[in-house]
Amino acid sequence: MRKTIAIVGAGPGGLTLARVLQTHGVAATIYESEASATTRAQGGLLDIHEETGQVALRAAGLYDAFRTLVRPGEDAKRVVDRHGTILFDRPADPASARPEVDRGELRRLLIDSLAPGTIKWGHKLASVRHRGEGGYELAFAEGPTTRADLVIGADGAWSKVRPLLTPAEPDYTGTCFIEIALAPGGRESRASVAAIGGGTLMAVAPGKGIIAHRCADGQVRGYVALNKPEEWLRSIDFGDPSAGPRRLADEFAGWSPLLTAFVTRSDAEPLLRPIHALPVGLRWDRVPGATLVGDAAHLMSPFAGEGANLAMYDGADLAGKLVEEPDVEAALTAYEERLFPRSRDAADRSAKNLEVFFGQEAPQSVAALFDRS
Ligand SMILES: Cc1cc2nc3c(=O)[nH]c(=O)nc-3n(C[C@H](O)[C@H](O)[C@H](O)COP(=O)(O)OP(=O)(O)OC[C@H]3O[C@@H](n4cnc5c(N)ncnc54)[C@H](O)[C@@H]3O)c2cc1C
Repeated sequence: MRKTIAIVGAGPGGLTLARVLQTHGVAATIYESEASATTRAQGGLLDIHEETGQVALRAAGLYDAFRTLVRPGEDAKRVVDRHGTILFDRPADPASARPEVDRGELRRLLIDSLAPGTIKWGHKLASVRHRGEGGYELAFAEGPTTRADLVIGADGAWSKVRPLLTPAEPDYTGTCFIEIALAPGGRESRASVAAIGGGTLMAVAPGKGIIAHRCADGQVRGYVALNKPEEWLRSIDFGDPSAGPRRLADEFAGWSPLLTAFVTRSDAEPLLRPIHALPVGLRWDRVPGATLVGDAAHLMSPFAGEGANLAMYDGADLAGKLVEEPDVEAALTAYEERLFPRSRDAADRSAKNLEVFFGQEAPQSVAALFDRS
């Protein structure tokens, strides 16, 4: 292909897209706002699904390398109620179809697989416009503009490429996350860490929950989840050391101290993360020379565990279509015809699971969900 391809964003979607294109001899440039590969810690775990993320990694020729990153034992799942009573307990499965990897390690694998110079770090897209004579002009927060025949938005939730295709914007789902962490070895926290079991603990009740994951290095990372209106988000400052942690702990009054210790003893900066989602079933009319992959196309709550998996799958699928189909518009049409139903189904599941997790039937609804899976 002789067309110039600009991919905006070096997340799982953009990186997989560039990698699969390159394995077929097609060049692409990724423009990424972060200054370097190490600017931001990419903590957290991702379970990589057999039918999406793993398919993409095979297409990228990285499946064997991915297997070396798998963290055996960390796919165990436990659901408890506010008293710590175990309602569901699934031990780790060495043959799991959804093994867990560290998000940062997976990103590093994808970055290192690309030809040197593929990623232009420190290029924050400010705007993109269609040029009358064809192709696009990309303007960045700093530095000169650039041109491309084909522009692909892999720039996540607040995509600057998305407005080329649709006016849709993410809405707040009504659930927010606050990060928590426990350093390994704390004597006071030992019983709480043991209560996690081998992998992930989900302690849930209507409107709230504590999700804690125990890593192989003994570190515990996770989130407090709360259903709260937008006004509440604006009124709260969990970072205020005089009141923030206490207000957060107050949300769990009456819960087992084994569980509240994840909140009161957390040494993470209590970053508030409102969970947003694009409308379920979002689609757009074909726009010549432009499309979206990953969260830019179908941001959803993390409760189907699909976001990064689908982003990689989208990237691999789009690359495959561009390689197979000499006509770019035919390739983009074929990609989007598969993208829209795929993302609608996952976004629908994810929206329903958010209700399963924090609706009135929790925690029994969560135990039943895992029982069925
Ligand atoms: C708390 C939480 C837990 C999650 N757990 C899971 C899970 O277990 N499994 C799973 O599959 N998914 C999970 N997800 C979802 C997953 O993180 C995302 O769906 C996934 O990262 C999307 O990948 P992406 O490549 O589309 O976008 P992103 O990962 O958001 O990457 C976008 C990239 O674009 C860059 N960028 C943004 N704006 C610009 C700009 N203007 N110019 C240039 N670059 C830009 C960003 O810096 C970033 O590098 C979770 C999400 C959250 C919030």
